[in-house]
Amino acid sequence: MSEPILRLDKVSVQFNDTFAVKDASLTINEGDFFGIVGPSGAGKSTLVRTVNLLQKPTLGKVFFEGVEITALNKKDLRQTRLKIGMIFQHFNLIKNSSVLDNVCFALKAAGAPKDEIKKKALFWLDRVGLKDKASLFPSDLSGGQKQRVAIARALANEPKILLCDEATSALDPNNTKEVVNTLKEIKSHYPITVLFITHQMEVARTLFNKIAVMDSGKIIEQGLCYDVFANPQHEITKSLVSSSWHLELPHEVFLHEKELFVITYSGNNAYEPLISKVSRDFAVQVPIVGGKIEYISGKPLGILVIGIQGNAENRTAAINFIKTQARLDRLTYKED
Ligand code: ADP
Repeated sequence: MSEPILRLDKVSVQFNDTFAVKDASLTINEGDFFGIVGPSGAGKSTLVRTVNLLQKPTLGKVFFEGVEITALNKKDLRQTRLKIGMIFQHFNLIKNSSVLDNVCFALKAAGAPKDEIKKKALFWLDRVGLKDKASLFPSDLSGGQKQRVAIARALANEPKILLCDEATSALDPNNTKEVVNTLKEIKSHYPITVLFITHQMEVARTLFNKIAVMDSGKIIEQGLCYDVFANPQHEITKSLVSSSWHLELPHEVFLHEKELFVITYSGNNAYEPLISKVSRDFAVQVPIVGGKIEYISGKPLGILVIGIQGNAENRTAAINFIKTQARLDRLTYKED
């Protein structure tokens, strides 16, 4: 196996007497679309900023392509940073420069040959679908378009890895979709690695192949995105995953059913035979009150909200049986 593109080894960041990041270790391989998720204040931004040393770790090491960048001198660090692109929540475009000049600026700053600058900038604006907006100014653009300019600017120097710090968090759902689709499209054509931090689980499950979950400065869980959504382990992850399904049901349903459950089943596990088997073998009724199928990394994940009606003994036996066949969680009522 080739060298990982990025490796964080027990990275901690301390501000005053608190740790924003504590003992975080991550390995990101070339081609990964790696997401770090977690609630606000979990330490995601601080962690991602250690990758290009915008934030120096208090403890721990950062390796980029096998080289410990936490030990580099200023000159070598500058060179390495050229291989690390970054986009931000608030785009950070230069207001008084045109879209084209914003992208050209990054190329000039990196010392690109003069005669190539405009051509390259237009190429990347074309890649993000904004070549026809080259002469406009950032204020003429929607949020999604501004972020696409920022993507063109970040990729113009052909970095090895693109860091995205809450890149869709300031955008409405349509603009978010636009940026997500742009990143997916670029990723399908270029061998770029992406490290994306977000508190938006909906963005996480559409984009990432791997995911790490952070809480209170620590990485509490990591794995393939599909596996983390299908079978979250930590309580925080369970809660983030569960609220991302948007299974809010009207209060009346909860009044009608004693208890509601969420069955999560992976694509090859069809739920109909399970539901009918449970009703038949355990003499319970299993009304289906909600559900959907989500696709994560191209694989289906079924989410079904059910009630289980019958006498206590049968219900317990039915619940225990379902747990041997699929993931089963209690659904609690939440006000919209
Ligand atoms: P997230 O990106 O997950 O929302 P952050 O990395 O921004 O979390 O912040 C993690 C914690 O570190 C928060 O409690 C935040 O207030 C604190 N923090 C972040 N930056 C600084 C700083 N420069 N000085 C002091 N505390 C900070």
